[in-house]
Amino acid sequence: MADRAAVEVRGVSRTFRGPRGEMVALKDVNLTIGAGEFVTVVGPSGCGKSTLLNLIVGLIEPTQGELWYAGEPYRGINHDIGYVTQADNLFPWRTVLRNVTFGLEMRHIGTRKDRRRRALELLDQVGLQGFAGHYRHELSGGMRQRVNIVRTIAYNPKVILLDEPFGPLDVQNRLQLQDLLLRLWQSRPGTTVIFITHDLTEAIALGDRVVVMSARPGRVREVFPVTLPRPRDIYTIHTNQIFRSLYDKVWAHLAEEMRVTTS
Ligand code: ADP
Ligand code: MG
Repeated sequence: MADRAAVEVRGVSRTFRGPRGEMVALKDVNLTIGAGEFVTVVGPSGCGKSTLLNLIVGLIEPTQGELWYAGEPYRGINHDIGYVTQADNLFPWRTVLRNVTFGLEMRHIGTRKDRRRRALELLDQVGLQGFAGHYRHELSGGMRQRVNIVRTIAYNPKVILLDEPFGPLDVQNRLQLQDLLLRLWQSRPGTTVIFITHDLTEAIALGDRVVVMSARPGRVREVFPVTLPRPRDIYTIHTNQIFRSLYDKVWAHLAEEMRVTTS
């Protein structure tokens, strides 16, 4: 892990008021994520993974505890953090190019020409050259998710949160996008990634550490360092012996939590 902390989740709990009273979504979560680290998070459905990202980006506030960024506590939206949600949320009335330049326009980054150039370069890197003038409805699911990631990466946020971004994709698209994400991350040293997934293979293949959360109320159950070297070949890494033994070890924990959810 990097020696400098990017994001620190300190004793964070979050309660929601529902029709049947209060519901504790997260309870006393503690997590320190180093600058430049790629951390993946797995846990049973409903354990508060999305809530955790919403708290980190500042869309919601903790009921208890604090969030720290670069050594300081913060509240409200953290503008150094980019958020790639599961739904692509692309603007249907903007072209692919103008979806990518949107975040740059909002942040007044570069001239119109610079923004256009940067967007085209990134689209090129993810294999979408030739689709700059297309609209959302003209793209496949995999293409939409490429645009979704690129438009967040375009403004170079120091921290990127991704919430099950490859969930609905087929295996080939998933692997291609995992590979792309690793390349984009590696070409931006110091960028911190927090990546949520329900796929343990993906969590281990991508992460420096895998965080396993417990069933509701969500807590950090265990954190596993991934000692696989980088760069990683996403297409074959699951055959590696280190990968396999780590998978079995983490799976035992995850399976226990999944049983808790259904019982
Ligand atoms: P996960 O992403 O791990 O599946 P979530 O973070 O979406 O889990 O949700 C955790 C729990 O908190 C769920 O029981 C969910 O219904 C509840 N929850 C999440 N957001 C809200 C909200 N805005 N209002 C009420 N309950 C919520
Ligand atoms: Mg979720």
